Amino acid sequence: MKPFQIYNSLTRAVEEFVPLKPGVVTFYSCGPTVYLPQHLGNMRAYVFVDTLKRALRFNGYDVRHVMNITDVGHMTSDADAGEDKIEKTARAQGKSPREVADFYIAQFKRDCAALNIELPPDAPAGDNPTPPQSALCRATDNIDAMIAVTLRIIANGFGYVTPSGVYFDVEKWRGPGGAGRLARQSLAEQHAGQRLEHSPDKKSPHDFALWVLNQPNHLMQWESPWGRGYPGWHIECSAMSMKYLGETLDLHSGGLDHIPVHHENEIAQSESATGHPFARYFVHNAFLVGMEGAKISKSAGRFPVLDDLIAEGINPLAFRVLCLGAKYRSELAFSLDSVRAAQKTLDYLDEFCRNARRAENEGNQNLELSESEDEIDEAVVRDVPWAGEYLERFELELNNDLNTPRALAIALEAVGEAYRRRDFGAVNLLFLFDTVLGLDLKTRLEESSGDQRVFGLLKLERLQKERERARLERNFKRADELRVEINREADELGYELRDTPGGQSILTPKRRRS
Ligand code: AMP
Ligand code: ZN
Repeated sequence: MKPFQIYNSLTRAVEEFVPLKPGVVTFYSCGPTVYLPQHLGNMRAYVFVDTLKRALRFNGYDVRHVMNITDVGHMTSDADAGEDKIEKTARAQGKSPREVADFYIAQFKRDCAALNIELPPDAPAGDNPTPPQSALCRATDNIDAMIAVTLRIIANGFGYVTPSGVYFDVEKWRGPGGAGRLARQSLAEQHAGQRLEHSPDKKSPHDFALWVLNQPNHLMQWESPWGRGYPGWHIECSAMSMKYLGETLDLHSGGLDHIPVHHENEIAQSESATGHPFARYFVHNAFLVGMEGAKISKSAGRFPVLDDLIAEGINPLAFRVLCLGAKYRSELAFSLDSVRAAQKTLDYLDEFCRNARRAENEGNQNLELSESEDEIDEAVVRDVPWAGEYLERFELELNNDLNTPRALAIALEAVGEAYRRRDFGAVNLLFLFDTVLGLDLKTRLEESSGDQRVFGLLKLERLQKERERARLERNFKRADELRVEINREADELGYELRDTPGGQSILTPKRRRS
């Protein structure tokens, strides 16, 4: 099988993905700033992260994933100017910054769960992890780690202390006229047309804050070797990624908007502190835009959130289908109509799963709706001889820079073929695809418990008829086997088989044993 390939923003080429340590991937994703609900554009970024993670697992990798939660230091302007975003909301809502962050973190987690996005486990506060370790970590729980990286940057000559804060010496790091590694722009190009806040303490207007001092109005403050203050925005990602994953990461993700400033600064901070390459592959998702091509962003006023879709009666996972239907590097236009069309695709897949279960219950096909991923793998190979070709094509597309629109199309094609062949064993193939697509098809099938009960009873009825026939044919061995099977199935549904004096058997609700 062709190895996994991905577009690396560092080299601007699709490259074979080779992690530092065979079999293990260290993956850091820039996470949410928790001062407002995450809008659907943000959620596209997290669907991308989740899909990439699933595709790597599909390729057999053990993925150690860290995502940060920004709950301090992100200013209303992505440069250091303006107000802390969390504190701005806190003032407006009359809450503490911690309360604001907690509220939006809970909402973020809920939205991720609705989109079947698997987040890393919460990092315990104040721990001392042995990297690489997965973690969902908050900036405010990792101030010590940020101070430690800042001290290393200063010790290596790339940070300087002033009364208003500790700044990163960008010009020294880049050299005269030097371009950034990702955006490949000189500082002049990078900041063209921007009005930079030029603190007189900075050696250059391009320098950015690692630690901010003497801002008495800032609510969140910590002690540091330089005095009370708070961290700049970028330093948290350098500190937390290295703390949990080690000094060189395999993979680092974020939205395209992070390329020119945030990720350039992360690279500068991390590499000036450690002397090692920071991340081997940088991957960036393109934006979700409004129909008119307008960027959907929090600062643009009203923006759609997941709750808006739910209010329209749309399954959140239809949004996931919408995301899968576009390449992650292409801009994606959002409209209610486009999500509704995606919902139809989701419904089609759900319907196929239900038909497969019905076929099983009616005894037309003996499917094993398998439990674990290994079992699914085995069941597909064993029961669906024609599946191999689809599996191969699916993997090929996935490994070709995460071509999800093609992979999804192949899954749909396989469903079409299954209908044509009347071979519902393909449901296991679909479940296998779904380990990457993340549409949670199996859970939804299992949760249609009302249906399941009806199917279960139908199956019992069929088995019972079969047993009566066996008895009439005096095939008592078969009748006894069926009795065992009926009892097992009936037990699960709360029924039991009882023989009547007339020699018949009937199913009755189970009697309580006292
Ligand atoms: P933020 O909470 O603003 O820090 O953004 C969280 C993530 O969402 C970042 O990786 C952004 O690059 C990404 N992002 C923001 N807006 C969009 C959008 N309209 N489409 C896709 N990704 C976005
Ligand atoms: Zn970041």
